[in-house]
Amino acid sequence: MNSQHFPLRGGCHCGNLKLIFNSTQTPNRLAVRTCACSFCRKHGTRSTSDPNGDLQIQIINPEKVIRYRFGMHTADFLICGCCGVYVAALMQNETQQSFATINVNVLDCAQLVSQDSVTVDYDGETIQSRQERRLQAWTPVVSIEEQNSQS
Ligand SMILES: [Zn+2]
Repeated sequence: MNSQHFPLRGGCHCGNLKLIFNSTQTPNRLAVRTCACSFCRKHGTRSTSDPNGDLQIQIINPEKVIRYRFGMHTADFLICGCCGVYVAALMQNETQQSFATINVNVLDCAQLVSQDSVTVDYDGETIQSRQERRLQAWTPVVSIEEQNSQS
């Protein structure tokens, strides 16, 4: 059934940043990419996204979340400021809808994602082509909950 979704949970090491990735694919069928940019190479990132799925993000302490930007500054790379794990990258369209690419390594099911990843190199893109590609391929973010506890 096309409408079936698989809730894949994950997050950073310390639990400050949590994800629920509702994918239309089982873990062993996710499209996995290895990006050739220097950030992803340094992290050993494997990325996935599902334009027909959705993503929920839960943040315990927003002050301990780093939103790192580099290169063309077209996306926020969410990194936990407590444990240092890169979880996902976010961008917004004109209507402030967020879209995400997810670091497969932070999913609880990461070991089931054993298929070969496709190496991608986006170095030659313009800002516009980059944004258009991401809006097609990345996962719509349906909620970002911040539990602003003790600040
Ligand atoms: Zn953490």
